[in-house]
Amino acid sequence: MNTRALERGASSSSGWLAGQVAVITGAASGIGRAVAERYLEEGALGVVCVDADRAGLDELAREHGSRVEPVIGDVRDHAVHEQAVERALASYGGLDVLVGNAGLFDFRRPLRGYTASALAATMDELFAVNLRGYLYAAMAAREALEAAGGCMIFTASVASFHAGGGGVLYTMGKHAVVGLVRQLALELAPRVRVNGVGPGGTLTGLRGTQTLGHGGRQIDADPRAFDERVSAAVPLAFAQRPRDHAGLYVLLASRDNARAVTGEIFMSDGGVAARSI
Ligand code: NAD
Repeated sequence: MNTRALERGASSSSGWLAGQVAVITGAASGIGRAVAERYLEEGALGVVCVDADRAGLDELAREHGSRVEPVIGDVRDHAVHEQAVERALASYGGLDVLVGNAGLFDFRRPLRGYTASALAATMDELFAVNLRGYLYAAMAAREALEAAGGCMIFTASVASFHAGGGGVLYTMGKHAVVGLVRQLALELAPRVRVNGVGPGGTLTGLRGTQTLGHGGRQIDADPRAFDERVSAAVPLAFAQRPRDHAGLYVLLASRDNARAVTGEIFMSDGGVAARSI
């Protein structure tokens, strides 16, 4: 065990996550990156950042030195998650928090926009990243989190509860995250808490599927149009930025502040649900 490992849980740093260790998928950009940065500000000992984007991870590691461990890989591959957990144990001496977050978008493609074969291929790709990636992360992290009495947090969406935030595949997939959170909360209690955060439209570089030829297409390719569209659609009248959601991930990870919370999705969507009350 190295010296950093000895500091885990006994860190002299202050903050809601002092001395804690997290694995975060999709941490090279957007919401995952904002969460990684907030965790470090809250005193986390180290963050293992998993992503396919090598350049984004390199930048994060350059900025934060030994408190960031980059793991470059595809979340569809179980071995990548095993590597991330091993890295947390070896570099920081344990694991307290898993954030499952890496995802793709379908750019609201309606059912009539697919052929049968395109639907099958897009569904395979989108669900493999947005759902299997979360389940593989949970599988790989379960034992270490049980040992630590830790928690899992998954990025859901406004599309987890409402239609229109995505196309049929994205909306189905994000609804399924609610089932994943609730079932795992039950299965992993009492040692591990499992919750979700549901962002609304957020200015990020969220990309689409290779299958639809959207691997390079970004949700915020035209930031001003995105801002205008989202502002007009939500009661709080602004398009969120990744950092707007990060505090909820801190709260849910905090043993002191969320000890009794499991099986819940905390929305961070500018008040979309208020429209339908
Ligand atoms: P983002 O593109 O900035 O972040 C997603 C990250 O996941 C990227 O760094 C990307 O490289 C990584 N990634 C994608 N596929 C991967 C794979 N197969 N293997 C490894 N890494 C992979 O976008 P974001 O908006 O921050 O998305 C994060 C999460 O937030 C997603 O689950 C998304 O569905 C969800 N979300 C986004 C919004 C929004 O409006 N941006 C709203 C609600 C929910």
